[in-house]
Amino acid sequence: MGENITLFSEDGKRTDGRALDELRPIKIKVGVLSNAQGSAYIEQGKNKILAAVYGPKEALPKHISLPDRCILRCRYHMAPFSTTERKSPAPSRREIELSMVLRNALEPLVMTSLFPRTVIDIFIEVLQADGGTRCAGLTAAVLALADAGIPLKGLAAACAVGKADGKIVVDLNDLEDKYGEADMPIAYNPTLDGITLLQMDGIMSKEEVEQALSLAITATQKMHKMQVDALRERFSVQRRET
Ligand code: ADP
Repeated sequence: MGENITLFSEDGKRTDGRALDELRPIKIKVGVLSNAQGSAYIEQGKNKILAAVYGPKEALPKHISLPDRCILRCRYHMAPFSTTERKSPAPSRREIELSMVLRNALEPLVMTSLFPRTVIDIFIEVLQADGGTRCAGLTAAVLALADAGIPLKGLAAACAVGKADGKIVVDLNDLEDKYGEADMPIAYNPTLDGITLLQMDGIMSKEEVEQALSLAITATQKMHKMQVDALRERFSVQRRET
């Protein structure tokens, strides 16, 4: 933030040619790993992210289990080759925090009371990062949960909105994330009409936050349709990819 980088061309297009409210191209595939109980892969622009789910299974050691519901464990991890400079494979503070943030954003979607004393493990592996990985990771993780047959209250998709060079934009890329004025990741569940993730850094006025929020809802509704299509494709084929 604060560096002198131009985020718009003269014709008002963004660095990757998109309009202000345009999502990056998204590809989603459900059931891409044969060993995990549920899995999904998402490409959103240059982001490439895998999500895998195991469970519900007995919560061990026993003291972590809860008598009335299952617990969720989540690991968000960026592969060492996911960034232009090799990243340390050891979990960073950022990854530990994002793991917790994503667990908290996913938990309200899962019918946890159906599975007392159990645990669900969710792995989000960022293979290539280009801004908005927590959001794309969440979008894939929800599908991996559905693929594992875990009863959900509904799907949720996530997208960052924010402000770049004074304009409110949808689905920030890495440059907009780094050099823009604000970044606000949001996960939205259209079935419950509920937001399960809302973070923000930078600065926006109240009006700008409202505008960004409504753009995020529209964008995540579009993503929700793509999630449904990906699930349909998965379950109409009735076999696991290897
Ligand atoms: P998000 O990916 O959810 O937007 P951040 O705002 O923390 O999360 O990161 C923005 C982007 O910065 C990431 O998507 C990635 O492209 C880049 N990035 C994050 N951590 C690192 C790192 N350790 N090394 C290089 N690039 C990174």
